[in-house]
Amino acid sequence: MKVVLEHVTKRFPNRDKKIKTEVTAVNDISFEIPDGKLIGLLGPSGCGKSTTLYMICGLQKLTEGRIYFGEEDVSDLSPENRGVGLVFQNYALYPHMTVKQNIMFPLENLKGDDKLTKDEMLERTYKVAKLVQIDELLERKPSELSGGQQQRVAIARALVKMPRVLLLDEPLSNLDARLRLQTREEIRRIQRETNITTVFVTHDQEEAMSISDQIVVMKLGVVQQMGVPQEVYNNPANLFVAKFLGTPPVNVFRGEVKGGALYIADERICNTPGISDRAVYVGIRPEGFIYSPNGVLTCDFQNVEVMGGAISIVSSHKESENAIIRATVMDDVKIPEGAATVKFDIKPNKLYVFDRETEERLYF
Ligand code: ADP
Ligand code: MG
Repeated sequence: MKVVLEHVTKRFPNRDKKIKTEVTAVNDISFEIPDGKLIGLLGPSGCGKSTTLYMICGLQKLTEGRIYFGEEDVSDLSPENRGVGLVFQNYALYPHMTVKQNIMFPLENLKGDDKLTKDEMLERTYKVAKLVQIDELLERKPSELSGGQQQRVAIARALVKMPRVLLLDEPLSNLDARLRLQTREEIRRIQRETNITTVFVTHDQEEAMSISDQIVVMKLGVVQQMGVPQEVYNNPANLFVAKFLGTPPVNVFRGEVKGGALYIADERICNTPGISDRAVYVGIRPEGFIYSPNGVLTCDFQNVEVMGGAISIVSSHKESENAIIRATVMDDVKIPEGAATVKFDIKPNKLYVFDRETEERLYF
């Protein structure tokens, strides 16, 4: 089921009643989620991810805009009538019910033509329990399960109604690091097996990058960029996106475009045809540095960190926005004993220039 958001805006009255101005949680966003894909909705806390998800699911009304499932305008449908499955960060299972009863519960409330017999309900329950691999745990109570198992039950409960769209709001946040990795692989597998169009909300860029077919990066209620994770990483549309994606993070320098070339301090880095003279920010990915005795950029050497197969050359620069600069290079690089500086050439496809004022990307 394709999902389309068309100029969707959500304004809330301020939580502080004394403040009369409204809060714009989501500001005129439009994007299309292709049928059967998993989309990662990504951005810092408070940028409007949950609000967007709740509007897709019908828990929040739109202030402006429309939402379509396929060709059907669902903007005014209640959540029950949209055919969505929703999973929250805190599993929200019924503590007094067994796993089986928890999963079956949504089916017991089906009315009219959708009403199922007890046998049909059980069959569906067993099927999704198997899919999320908790079929051995059906008679237990939620308190007898680990966090990861509880979250699987919550996912099973969302899937049992065979939703048209699956919506996950930071579903891994309450799990420890190892379970988080494992459960995200699980979610990916379940999504592939069921082919349900899925929106996965997270503030964790690595999580979003690793499981999404496409990511949507948001900031202050506005979509910054949408695309295949690796493409967005390699071609950020603005400084915010460049900084939000990647660990270690992009290295940011203050620079200058003068007479068709880019300068950091007084070093000429590369030609920038088509960009008029101005102050800029320069983003360089850690893997964009080539250690080179005659390189174009000179940094103050600090130390080397071994990462197994690669090393991280740690340095600093007076025009760097970050306290330290990290350059990831192969581990056969040898820095001379007692070196005070290191020089680098820069891979052109790992260097981005942004207008210092607007922070928008300048292409050349
Ligand atoms: P995220 O999920 O990305 O952390 P949210 O969608 O929860 O962000 O919130 C986006 C913005 O809308 C925040 O500034 C938040 O405080 C505000 N907001 C969310 N829900 C409400 C509400 N019910 N009433 C008032 N403001 C809200
Ligand atoms: Mg949220």
